[in-house]
Amino acid sequence: MRGVVFDGEQVVVADDLEVRDPGPGEVLVAVAAAGLCHSDLSVIDGTIPFPRPVVLGHEGAGVVEAVGAGVTHVAAGDHVSLSTLANCGACAECDRGRPTMCRKAIGMPGRPFSRGGKELFQFASNSAFAERTVVKAVQAVKIPAELPLTSAALIGCGVLTGVGAVLNRARVAVGDSVVVIGTGGVGLNVLQGARIAGASTIVAVDANPAKEEAARQFGATTFLTDVAAVREALPDGAGHVFECVGRTELVRAAIDLLDRHGQAVLLGMPAADAEASFVPAQLFLDKSILGCRYGSSRPQRDIRLYADLYAQGRLLLDELVTRTYPVEDFGKAVEDAEAGRVARGVLTF
Ligand SMILES: [Zn+2]
Ligand SMILES: [Zn+2]
Repeated sequence: MRGVVFDGEQVVVADDLEVRDPGPGEVLVAVAAAGLCHSDLSVIDGTIPFPRPVVLGHEGAGVVEAVGAGVTHVAAGDHVSLSTLANCGACAECDRGRPTMCRKAIGMPGRPFSRGGKELFQFASNSAFAERTVVKAVQAVKIPAELPLTSAALIGCGVLTGVGAVLNRARVAVGDSVVVIGTGGVGLNVLQGARIAGASTIVAVDANPAKEEAARQFGATTFLTDVAAVREALPDGAGHVFECVGRTELVRAAIDLLDRHGQAVLLGMPAADAEASFVPAQLFLDKSILGCRYGSSRPQRDIRLYADLYAQGRLLLDELVTRTYPVEDFGKAVEDAEAGRVARGVLTF
């Protein structure tokens, strides 16, 4: 079968990949579509250190082909959206509704693939850039068959991360003010999360003026190209500022923009050793700085919720898909993503 493999030196679209059968508690999924997210590129450029060789991809959707022993919540033929969270479902964190904090959910990559007799690692417990993948049962979330799989593919990373940060982590309330710095794949989802939450003022900031139309479509009430101009739009500061770029000076700007009791939510990924500064005295007015992993999501609940909101026309998914590419055109998809020509490119099988 076909799949996108990174061996540490180069990326190839292989056609001789194999995947093992699903074991107990696992699901074999025929992937129909998978979004190209910045994190895939970060594996290739080394920003995210990951063992190799690895099959890339981590936001996908497809059709269940087979289930292993003990799996009853999905069956062959079901449409599913895949999460990247291979949480155990049985520890204290999972049990209290924090599967993103499960210690089994990160840092233990499996190797369900092989090529020429050699095993390959699975990226983010997912590897959606393959015709078939094996995931844990908790990762396969049933979705309505009417939901286009090219759109459903995006729920598993960009939507869970962006909308989840607003609803689950920041808990934006009706009437709140929100600033979103950076309107790429995650930023657009933060914007629509803020709209769904009922925020009254939603300011989008992006240095690229070409992003304005999409930002307004997803929920921005104001669009600015310079973070320094936000004070004019919100003289008292903002209730919530989401940094979605990952630059330390913008982390600082996010904190400086907070109103009393405001919170800065850090979603961008600076280099692992980057340091940002802030003025501690500013935080005394009940301000806070929040990290957020994977939208603090509970995928079995949240993916169903987002599928419902999509069906009601309240959550935009189709509009996130700028372009689809057959998997063989992976290189072209990367070029377009790096040039900022697409909100999301989606590979199809
Ligand atoms: Zn991602
Ligand atoms: Zn757990």
